[in-house]
Amino acid sequence: LGIQDFLRHHIRTVPDWPAPGVQFRDITPLLQEPQVFRVLIDAFVHRYMGRALRPDLVAGLDARGFIIGAVVAYALGVGFVPIRKKGRLPFTTVAQTYELEYGSATMELHTDAVQAGDRVLLIDDLIATGGTMMAGRKLLEKLGAVVTEGAAIVDLPALGGSQRLRDTGLPVFTLVDFK
Ligand code: IMP
Repeated sequence: LGIQDFLRHHIRTVPDWPAPGVQFRDITPLLQEPQVFRVLIDAFVHRYMGRALRPDLVAGLDARGFIIGAVVAYALGVGFVPIRKKGRLPFTTVAQTYELEYGSATMELHTDAVQAGDRVLLIDDLIATGGTMMAGRKLLEKLGAVVTEGAAIVDLPALGGSQRLRDTGLPVFTLVDFK
């Protein structure tokens, strides 16, 4: 069994959540089993610990990107910064609004979270349309950081997000596809 199928087997699909017709890919079972959680985290750590891809910092997207991103940062021996939904961060922030299927959302980042020139790995649990990851990238770039790669556990390639991100020049790394 390859790692993609091993991990896929521990992702739960919840039909009609949060809305009718949506197949929600739930990564919580991956976190619950210690051996599975380790395989998941080690897949990222293995990729990013080498000299070429090792970032200065990991940025995680609210909220499941915090779970993975913080653990990967710890294992790499680098810092972690949270990119949060609007209104949650206490210090001065930069903000980026992006389109959702219905309406829009805003993400924020502390203005001192990164330094100009920092090489940042951006992590979330899943890439669908790519809008969330693109917003995170723009926030980091507003502060002069360089996003070296966007990483997620799951890609939904049919929604085109990972390809759209790659088309803008952002390398994208994911572990499991759901067609
Ligand atoms: P995007 O912005 O359309 O790429 O959507 C990705 C964001 O929505 C990520 O922050 C995900 O956590 C969340 N998301 C969208 N669909 C799912 C899903 O099926 N499972 C888990 N998270 C999802």
